[in-house]
Parts: sequence; C-alpha cells; structure tokens
Amino acid sequence: MIKHHLNPEILMSYAAGNSSSSVSLIVASHITVCSKCRKEVSFYEDIGGKVLEESLSVETKAETLDIILSKLDGLNSELITNTIIENSSFKNIPVVLQKMLPEGNSLTENWKKGIGGIKYFDIDMESVNKDLHARMLSIPPGKKLPNHGHEAQELTLVLEGGFSDENGNYNVGDVAIEDENNIHTPIADSEEGCVCLVVYEGNLKFKGVFGPILNLLKI
Ligand SMILES: [Zn+2]
Repeated sequence: MIKHHLNPEILMSYAAGNSSSSVSLIVASHITVCSKCRKEVSFYEDIGGKVLEESLSVETKAETLDIILSKLDGLNSELITNTIIENSSFKNIPVVLQKMLPEGNSLTENWKKGIGGIKYFDIDMESVNKDLHARMLSIPPGKKLPNHGHEAQELTLVLEGGFSDENGNYNVGDVAIEDENNIHTPIADSEEGCVCLVVYEGNLKFKGVFGPILNLLKI
C-alpha cells in the first residue's frame, strides 16, 4: 500500500499542464499505480477544465507529455539494438516511463555502472529543456548512504524494492519529496534493493534521497 504521496501543489500544477516534463514524468508514473493521486488529478482537471474551457493559450498536460514522448521515440528506436542483461527484467515500470528507457522493462548495457554495484540510466530530457533531469537508479540491497541534506526540491519514485530513512519506509509506488529542510540517511531494502526514478530541475548539486550517489556518478 502506498503511504507517501505527491502533494496537492504538484498534482494541481500537473493537472493544469504547468509541470515541467521531468515532474510530469514522475507524476504520470506515480498515478499509474496510485488511485488516490489519480483521483485527485482528475478532480483538479475537472475544475481546471471548467475554468479554462475557452482558453486556447493553455497547453494541456496530455499534449505536453505527447510532445515529450514523440521526441523520445526517435531516441529509443536508436537504442533498441542493445543487449538485455540476463535476469534483469523490472516488474513495475509504468508504461509512460518504459517508453523512455532502452528496452522498456529490462536493464540493458545502456545502463551505466556506478560505484558499489549501482547502475543508472539518464533519461534524455535535454532535447526538451536543458535544465530538466531524470535519472533511473538501481541500488543493491542494503546499500546505506551517508547522512545528508538537500539544496532544492527533488522527487524520488520507488519502482522496485524500497528504502527507509528517518522519515519512514518507502516502498513501490511511494514518492519521496526532499527539500532543503530534510536531512536523512537512506538505506536500500535489504533483500530487493531499490530501483527508482529521480527528477530535479536546474543546474544544481544532487542532494536528494540518493544525492551522494548521484553526485559521485555525475559526468
Ligand atoms: Zn499518490
């Protein structure tokens, strides 16, 4: 059961078509598995639809995502020839997110190898906006990260396994919203590890849940 949800501000902004493509990606992925947030989004969409019915200047959320996906389709077709690593299929990747990954549900050689057995894949957001960032992370079981804080908001969606920190346990479907007020020590699930999507905006240091890892992996 999902315990950690997106907040109303993020959902409202998404429903109004005002979210960046990286935040849209994490919201679209989360509401695939979360009926509570899905209902909240459609509630805001209904309100927004009534208010904005006549406006031609407002781009809808669906159009925004379509544009992103159409741009990334070309990219993914170039990557499709890459080898799937054996026994490495993911079970819970939402379709909207699969479309942005090489071979969708599978860990492939496109995923880069980081320190401590971590693997990661950067989703290309730069063709849409160079300040948007989205990274998939696969963290080995029991990996403990140093205590750390954050400089700006980052969203982390758990896709497989989970992690825990001072704020609680985060399992499949849960979203961690980290900002400058949070200091914590996350540990990946001892049996399954953690596969997650992390998004942030701007040219800032990674300081989120898996910030130390992201910084070390920075190219
Ligand atoms: Zn939710």
